[in-house]
Amino acid sequence: QTFAEIDLGHVLKQNIKRCKFLKPTPIQRHAIPIVIAGRDLMACAQTGSGKTAAFCFPIICGVLKDRLLLSIPGGSQVACPLALILAPTRELSCQIHEEAKKFAYRTGVKIVVAYGGTPISQQFRNIEKGVDILVATPGRLVDMIERARVSLRMIKYLALDEADRMLDMGFEPQIRKIVEKMDMPPPGTRQTMLFSATFPDEIQKLASDFLSDYVFLAV
Ligand code: AMP
Repeated sequence: QTFAEIDLGHVLKQNIKRCKFLKPTPIQRHAIPIVIAGRDLMACAQTGSGKTAAFCFPIICGVLKDRLLLSIPGGSQVACPLALILAPTRELSCQIHEEAKKFAYRTGVKIVVAYGGTPISQQFRNIEKGVDILVATPGRLVDMIERARVSLRMIKYLALDEADRMLDMGFEPQIRKIVEKMDMPPPGTRQTMLFSATFPDEIQKLASDFLSDYVFLAV
C-alpha cells in the first residue's frame, strides 16, 4: 500500500513526499484509516514504528476539515486548541512538535509545544499567537489550565503517546484532570487515540475510561 491510497488530502500528501516517506509503516497503514473513519484507537506501538505520523496525519487532516466548519473567535486571551497530543517528556514532546510541523507545512495549521522545566511565560506567548494542535506534557498543561490560559472545551482529537511511560512517571492524576476538562456535551464528539508499548491493567483501565467503542491495533 502507498500513501496515495489513504484519504489524506493533497497538501498532506505533498508534505509526506517532502519528508521522503515512500510508503506507510505497518502502524500507519492500519491506524490512519481507522482514525479517519472516526473511530477511537488503542495501538501497541514501539519507538521507531512511525507512530508519531500515525496519529499526526489524521489529526492534521481532521483539524483542516474542522476549521472550515467551526468559526473560532480570535483575539481571545484563552487559547482553544482543537487537538491535544500528550507525551511524557520534554524530549518526546519536542520531537513530536518538530515532526508535526513538517507534516503540517503550508497547511496553516498552528502547532505549539508546552513542557515543564522552563519558564511558562514564553510558552504563553507562543499559544497566544494561536494554536490548533497543542503538544504538551501533562504537568505543564495542568498548570496552564489552572492559570486559565488554555481551555480544552474545543478539543476534538486527543492523542496519548507513550501512555505506559506517562503512568510510570506518575502522571495519571494530571491526565485524568486534563481529560475531565474536555468532556463537553454532546458526548462522543471527541476522538481519542492511545499509544502504548505495553498493556498492563492500568492502561486497559485508562482505555476503558477514555475511549469509546475503540479499535485495538497491535502490529
Ligand atoms: P517514530 O516511531 O514516530 O518516532 O518514527 C521513527 C522515525 O521514522 C522518524 O524519524 C520518522 O520521521 C520516520 N518515519 C516515520 N514514518 C515513516 C515512513 N512512512 N517512511 C519513512 N520514514 C518514516
